[in-house]
Amino acid sequence: MKVLIIEDDREIVEVISLAFEIRWPDAKLVSTHLGEKGLEMVESENPDVVILDLGLPDASGFDVLKELRAFSDVPILILTVRSEEADIVKGLEWGADDYMLKPFRQLELLSRIRALTRRGGSLDRETPLACGELRFDPSARQLFYGQREISLTRTEGTILHQLMRNAGQVVTHSALAKAIWGEDYPGATDSIRVYIRRLREKIEADPEQPQIILTKTSLGYLLPKPD
Ligand code: CA
Repeated sequence: MKVLIIEDDREIVEVISLAFEIRWPDAKLVSTHLGEKGLEMVESENPDVVILDLGLPDASGFDVLKELRAFSDVPILILTVRSEEADIVKGLEWGADDYMLKPFRQLELLSRIRALTRRGGSLDRETPLACGELRFDPSARQLFYGQREISLTRTEGTILHQLMRNAGQVVTHSALAKAIWGEDYPGATDSIRVYIRRLREKIEADPEQPQIILTKTSLGYLLPKPD
């Protein structure tokens, strides 16, 4: 297990290193404060997961993300002080798998990293699902909707997989959090809302008037069964 941290705040790198040392001593950590160097290290170090800061001295984290996705499928977790939803959605849109806002809880960060490195594997073993016009191949994270082919991130794939498997039933916020991160967190509902919004933008004709992924206020989400 190898983690690449692309982050220019030395204190944060130290906090993450210490958390891993205590809770996950087998993991090997490598880090750089530069985006360009980070891209090189994804190739040379072949990490299992990347923690990416959006504000770097030599490059925008968004550009690093975009370049990284051009050649690598490694799970990426954005760690950022930017709390604006638009930035987070942009990060997810450009291929990040998860995000956390600074300041963060160390245990939650470790759990999310663990979930990201494990989850790719768990979806890989799942067989394709169909529901109405939706067909989803979890291992390729490829969604077919009518004639359209839509690529999903790991997190989006995990959510859609849960909704399709339970079509016709409400999937609770808590059940979705457990499927995504292995446990339910304070604030998980807010994160899930961001992912659902992104999924709707990819799938729904009008994301403001969703017909495919329905909100069950204060409960969770529902994919209606086709007639
Ligand atoms: Ca920074």
